[in-house]
Amino acid sequence: MNLNICCIPGDGIGPEIIAEAKKVLKKVAEKYGHNMEFTDVLMGGASIDAYGVPLTDETIAVAKESDAVLMGSIGGDTNTSPWYELEPHLRPEAGLLKIRKSLNLFANLRPAVLYPQLAGACPLKEEISAKGFNMLIMRELTGGLYFGERKTVEENGMLTAIDTLTYTEEEIRRIAVKGFEIARKRRGKVTSVDKANVLDSSRLWRKVVNQVAPNYPEVTLEHMLVDNCAMQLVRDPAQFDVILTENMFGDILSDEASMVTGSIGMLASASLNDSRFGLYEPSHGSAPDIAGKDIANPIATILSAAMMLKFTFDLDEEAAAIEKAVEAVLEKGYRTGDIMSEGCIQVGCSQMGSLIEEAI
Ligand code: NAD
Repeated sequence: MNLNICCIPGDGIGPEIIAEAKKVLKKVAEKYGHNMEFTDVLMGGASIDAYGVPLTDETIAVAKESDAVLMGSIGGDTNTSPWYELEPHLRPEAGLLKIRKSLNLFANLRPAVLYPQLAGACPLKEEISAKGFNMLIMRELTGGLYFGERKTVEENGMLTAIDTLTYTEEEIRRIAVKGFEIARKRRGKVTSVDKANVLDSSRLWRKVVNQVAPNYPEVTLEHMLVDNCAMQLVRDPAQFDVILTENMFGDILSDEASMVTGSIGMLASASLNDSRFGLYEPSHGSAPDIAGKDIANPIATILSAAMMLKFTFDLDEEAAAIEKAVEAVLEKGYRTGDIMSEGCIQVGCSQMGSLIEEAI
């Protein structure tokens, strides 16, 4: 298969972790007989330094011509970097919002996995963490409260702020379909999260999800109110497979789910549009505090590359080979500094990448 991948190394630790993900992908390509082409482009601070803007039209064009985008992370130290003295629309993060919009990425996927080898980092009680968990939070990315009309008005000397939460049937249906498609490839369970006891937008959400469900008889659907879901994530996270939810609920729940894994350097993510195209990146930022020291954990980016193989290219076996290689390396006791614990062997970013490459 020909795989045409646009790479955005980005800023901070971005170039270091992308180099390791490429190493692993090249090994997969070699082993499974694929032809992989990488086109590197600039975004964020690196693009500001080179072109004066965080994202150029040329970069967007390269991304659109590719099958998928693999990104490191963008941005600098928000207190000290001169990038943050620029107008908001010229700062590194503006590039991120623009590329998501230009590529019409509406579904954000964040797996939260507790590896048995890293159970010690989980802040939950041992009787809960011992069961492990492996869930995927699927968040609608382009609608809801963050994109609705908003205003602040003053009446009779009193300020009133108004935000609008809007969803169309179509916006709900397209993400519900993605959610069921993905659950079918996993353990076959969708938990749709809403606030249908209060919100009209949630009642429509529930109605449309119920309409989509019969097309996927092999997937079990349950509905859960968002406040209950927030509790269940810390009470019994093992019950979840795919959590399907709207923009703001997903924003909050995905951060909660990542915190219960306890390891930010391990968390992958993907943002998809309605074709097979996706942008794949670690959930963490550019970690300027540790950039250039070869100590960053590249696993979140390597697992994002595995998601790319699975969701854009349908290469499930190759994706599983990466996931298994990561587990094998953890099982042997190798750790980067962020996930280090007593009795383990501490390695740097590039050595971790090489170990995973060798384990493919
Ligand atoms: P961060 O995730 O970069 O760092 C938080 C802490 O986690 C730091 O102590 C860092 O050293 C550590 N850390 C993060 N990733 C790690 C890894 N792979 N290995 C080891 N340790 C790791 O968050 P922040 O400090 O709030 O943000 C730094 C910059 O990243 C900011 O400019 C922010 O805007 C940007 N950012 C970018 C994205 C993105 O590109 N999608 C996402 C979040 C933050």
